[in-house]
Amino acid sequence: MDRPDGPDARRALRVEAAAAADAHGGVAPAVLLLDAAGEVLSLGRPEMVGATPEARTVSVPNSLLLPGLVNAHAHLDLTSIGPRPFDAAAGFAAWAGMIRRKRPAAPEAIADSVRAGVEASLRGGTAIVGDIAGNRGLAAAEALRHLSLRGVSYIEVFGIGAAEDAGIGFLDELGSLAASFTGAVRLGVSPHASYSCGDRLYARAAALGLPLATHLSETLEELRFNRDGEGPLADLLREVGVWSDEVVGWHATPIERLLPILARSGAAIAHGNYLEHRDLDRLAEVAAEAARAGISPVGLVYCPRASAYFGHPIAGEPPHRYRELRERGVPVALGTDGMVCLDTPDRLSVLDEMRLLHRRDGADPSTLLAMATVDGATLLGEPLEHAGLATGDRPAGLLAIDLPNGRGVVDAGAALQTALRLDVEPRWLLEPRGDP
Ligand SMILES: [Zn+2]
Repeated sequence: MDRPDGPDARRALRVEAAAAADAHGGVAPAVLLLDAAGEVLSLGRPEMVGATPEARTVSVPNSLLLPGLVNAHAHLDLTSIGPRPFDAAAGFAAWAGMIRRKRPAAPEAIADSVRAGVEASLRGGTAIVGDIAGNRGLAAAEALRHLSLRGVSYIEVFGIGAAEDAGIGFLDELGSLAASFTGAVRLGVSPHASYSCGDRLYARAAALGLPLATHLSETLEELRFNRDGEGPLADLLREVGVWSDEVVGWHATPIERLLPILARSGAAIAHGNYLEHRDLDRLAEVAAEAARAGISPVGLVYCPRASAYFGHPIAGEPPHRYRELRERGVPVALGTDGMVCLDTPDRLSVLDEMRLLHRRDGADPSTLLAMATVDGATLLGEPLEHAGLATGDRPAGLLAIDLPNGRGVVDAGAALQTALRLDVEPRWLLEPRGDP
C-alpha cells in the first residue's frame, strides 16, 4: 500500500475501499478522492468518480472508511490512573476520594497523563475530543494543544456555598486566558456539576462566551440534592467544609434548575442518566429554540460504559433515554468519560461505546455514527466539515476498519453493522494533525 503521507503527499489522494460511511449515509464499493489539503473532492461508487490518473491511489478493498470520531466527554488527565473497579458498597464519595488521591497533580505529571490519553484516543480512532481538564490550572490544556487531536479543553471549576465566590474569581481569570487558544484546541469552561457549583457560578461561566460542559443528572443522590438540599451530597459538602445554610435545595431537577442558564451559552451536558419527562420537554424546547435562533445548542453526552460502571440504571429506573432525546431534536453525542471507568486500557474510543449500544440495545448503526461524529462536533462547536466525508468536508482524520469479507460488501449500512459486531481496532489512513 502507498503511504498516504509519503513523499508525494502534495498530490490528490484516491482511496478505494469496500465501503464508506458518515452521518449522512454511505456508499459501497467506495472511492474517496481528497485534495492535497485533505478536502473531499468526491465520494461515490467507482463509476461515479471515474478515473483519476493524476491522484495517488491507496487500495483497501476489505475496509470500511469512516471519518475520525468525536469523543465529546473525556478526562485525559486521569488516564495515568488506569482502569479501577467501582466498589458500589463503599459508594461514590469513596470513589471520588480515590480519584483525588491518585490523580496527577504536578504539571509534568498532568502533561504525561494527557499525552497517554491522546495516544489511547488515537489508537481508538478519535480525532476530536471534548476533554475535561481538572485541577483548575492550564497544564492539561497546554499539553493537549501541542498534540494531534482537535477539540476543546474544558477547564473544570468548582464552587458552591462558601466556595462559590472563589470559583467565580477563577472564572474571571480564565476568561482572559481563552483568547490565546485560537488553534485546533480551543479553551472551554466546565462548571463541574449541579452539586458542586452554585447558580451564580454557572451564570458567570455561561457569560464567558466559551464552549461549556458540565455533569448533570448522573445519580439519584444528585436529584435528591437539587430537590431538597439533602442526602449524601449535602453531607459531602459539609465534610469538605463548603456547606452554607443557603443551600436548601431548588425543588427542581438539575435540568429544570440549570437549563435556563445554560440555554444562553449552549452546553455539552455529560450523562443525563436520570431524566424526567419534563426534563425531556425542556431540552426539546431549548433545542428547537437554538435551531431557530442559530445559537449554540444544549445537548447530552452519553457515556454508556461509564454509566454502566456506576450501576446505571438502578433497579426500577428506566434506561437512558438517548434515542428519545435524539428523536425530539436534542443533540446526543457519545463520550468515554475517563479511563478509570473503562474496560479498554489501551484505547479511549467512542467506537467501543457504539459497539456496546448496538449489541446491548440494538441501536441503529447509522444513528450511532451520527452520535459519534456530527452530534459531538455540534456540541463542541467544531466545524461539521471536520466530522464528515461529503464533498467539501475536511475530515479531521480518515479511518479504515478491516472487515472479514470486504469484497462481499454490497451495502455501507451492512458494513457498518459488521464493524460494530466485531472488535477490530480501527487504523488511520490519514492521521489527525491538530494544528498542522
Ligand atoms: Zn466526566
